[in-house]
Amino acid sequence: MPKANETVLEINLGNLAHNYRYLRSKLDEDVKFLSVVKAFAYGNDSVVIAKKLEELGTDYFAVAYVSEGIQLRENGITTPILVLHPQMGNFEEIIEHCLEPNLYSEKILINFIETAEAKNQKNYPVHIKLNTGLNRLGFDANEISKVYDLIENTNSLKVRSIFSHLAASEDWEEREFTIGQIDLFRKMSWELIEKLGYQPLLHICNTSGIINYPQAAFSMVRSGIGLYGYGNDENVDPKLKPIGSLKTVISQIHKLEKGESVGYNRKYKVPKTSRIATLPIGHADGINRIYGNEKAGVFIHDQYAPIVGNVCMDILMVNVTEIDCEEGDEVVIFGGSQHPVKFAEAGGTISYELITGIQHRVKRIVIPE
Ligand SMILES: *Cc1c(COP(=O)(O)O)cnc(C)c1O
Repeated sequence: MPKANETVLEINLGNLAHNYRYLRSKLDEDVKFLSVVKAFAYGNDSVVIAKKLEELGTDYFAVAYVSEGIQLRENGITTPILVLHPQMGNFEEIIEHCLEPNLYSEKILINFIETAEAKNQKNYPVHIKLNTGLNRLGFDANEISKVYDLIENTNSLKVRSIFSHLAASEDWEEREFTIGQIDLFRKMSWELIEKLGYQPLLHICNTSGIINYPQAAFSMVRSGIGLYGYGNDENVDPKLKPIGSLKTVISQIHKLEKGESVGYNRKYKVPKTSRIATLPIGHADGINRIYGNEKAGVFIHDQYAPIVGNVCMDILMVNVTEIDCEEGDEVVIFGGSQHPVKFAEAGGTISYELITGIQHRVKRIVIPE
């Protein structure tokens, strides 16, 4: 890999393939695999990632919003795409782009049926979301009959899957609650299946569900974070490979004398003669202000350099007094010498927020398998 000469997010498709195969290996062969590629594939580039996952054999994709699904369709993705969070008024576009909606409330279900009938659809594939305790989206246990009554009177749609989402699949202290969610899901979906008279796909596991509750894989699982290399668990993390590495370069080095200050509001004052390096990355790139003032740091020639002072919009400064480095040298923010989870934790957050926050202006460089 040539060294970075500007800020780049390297995306390693070999690591993506490794993670996909690892997660698949936890499941029976007939369990289908849905890859979650919402939020620009968790900040990695959804088209590139979806193409690779299609090649690897994923059965389904999921995105959050309709626009994300349209982008995949416009770039040649042909695998079925579940839209997790559509709104009323999205359904014409959904049908026009062969996307499959999550129908999670009475209003949404009625609105979809109206649109599908107006567009003369027959057996259009839809997904019914059940609320088993996350209390975010989905029908409650006492609404199953209502769902069926609405579906029964139309041939415009066919239930392709019934699903729910776990609230704490990574949290062992909530094991009893999670098992309760799984049991409730089984009960609610069977009630609906009996009325429907056919068997849609069933799914409740996300990445940590696959790892901690493989017995609840049903006929499909949905994985996002695991594909990108994170297991939400220090024992699982070593088995996965983060696919993104964020790198940049030293723009300039200043030599400062004791008491001189660095950056806006003079938040850092050097305690002794110091070398301070300026890097072309800031909070507008996704490295939030929380990482500043020595909360987190970067690696230069495998050595730790703390971020000093406030993070600026496009720039941050690091202390390189103890590091033999010069202008133009490569800097690793995460990936390589620094596990992204370590960096995220230094900022009091989680892998999900760190990687989805890397902004679009950061150039993505794809490393093929
Ligand atoms: C984002 C999301 C997922 C993926 O969860 P991971 O923890 O990233 O595997 C699965 N299902 C739903 C409904 C989601 O919103």
